[in-house]
Amino acid sequence: MGAPHWRQRRPFNGRRIPVERDIMTITEFSDLGLSEPLLRAIRSENYETPTPIQAQAIPQLLGGRDLLGIAQTGTGKTAAFGLPILQELSENWEKPSPGRPLCVILAPKRELAIQIGESFKFMGRYTMVRHTVIFGGVSQNPQVAALRRGRDIVVATPGRFLDLMNQGQLKLHDIRQFVLDEADRMLDMGFIHDVRKIVAALPDERQTLFFSATMPKSVVGFADSILNNPVRVEVTPRATPVERISQNVHFVETSEKKELLINILSDADMDKVIVFTRTKHRANRVSEQLVKAGIPAEAIHGNKSQGARQRALQRFTQGSVRVLVATDIAARGIDINDVSHVVNYE
Ligand code: AMP
Repeated sequence: MGAPHWRQRRPFNGRRIPVERDIMTITEFSDLGLSEPLLRAIRSENYETPTPIQAQAIPQLLGGRDLLGIAQTGTGKTAAFGLPILQELSENWEKPSPGRPLCVILAPKRELAIQIGESFKFMGRYTMVRHTVIFGGVSQNPQVAALRRGRDIVVATPGRFLDLMNQGQLKLHDIRQFVLDEADRMLDMGFIHDVRKIVAALPDERQTLFFSATMPKSVVGFADSILNNPVRVEVTPRATPVERISQNVHFVETSEKKELLINILSDADMDKVIVFTRTKHRANRVSEQLVKAGIPAEAIHGNKSQGARQRALQRFTQGSVRVLVATDIAARGIDINDVSHVVNYE
């Protein structure tokens, strides 16, 4: 979707508030202080520039700081913590003792733990650093065997990790770095007690990295209790639809809304538009007003029969009307391709 030119226009008495996200500062990986084996791995993966969280977090982490990262998957956060960890562990590398890793990374789900493991495999391919991934629901024997061979990094879900810790298969005395990934999900999934037990067994002298997509009060309290003077880095997701959506707010008097909407819709770029209203009555009224102004529109809401809704949707998806006015309830869960604009009318 190109930048629609109505964004440049000022509405009547209103003010335009652009909500631009992620003003990215261009930094090179080679500016971040990373060692050659890591830069080589980055090149072979064809990463060109660091993502915002990488550019902001890596130098701080190389400096030994704790980190509070407010970021979702898709932001490049795995490399943001993985590269500095690998760098620290590969300098003066010595074979790790059996069952005594130097770094622990906890993730709430096995799929995520496996994915983190995969990232470490490629990022660390030109270093001596070795990792293993540990999760429940499978036999622990191969996991124990890997630990006995000595692993610098353990990526794990909390339950199985705690089991192995309690069995004495894992000792945490040598831990220098501790990463908690998706902390909010960890709390939602009821892992807080397990995580607290693990944290209690860690040496006080360590670097702690805490990642969460959201920061509700419970997560803030938890972060405070395990971090030591952290740097805070907050980013919005990379490569998700949200980043490709520009959002604008128009402040407008109620009496001028209709005219503003018609004016905005006169832009030919607005070729497939959903207008959300709060009530069914308003959905009908707005669609009638648009039709009167010469803009083909259909309304869908709960008072219309299933058949009528289906027909309206069809005319919209096929392009014979370019504006669909809907209550959010009626539109919930519908999936329409190529919507160019969404207007929240109320
Ligand atoms: P993550 O948020 O760590 O799950 O990463 C999301 C995806 O982005 C993964 O597929 C990474 O391989 C990829 N990625 C991470 N950093 C970069 C980068 N600097 N350039 C291109 N892709 C990247």
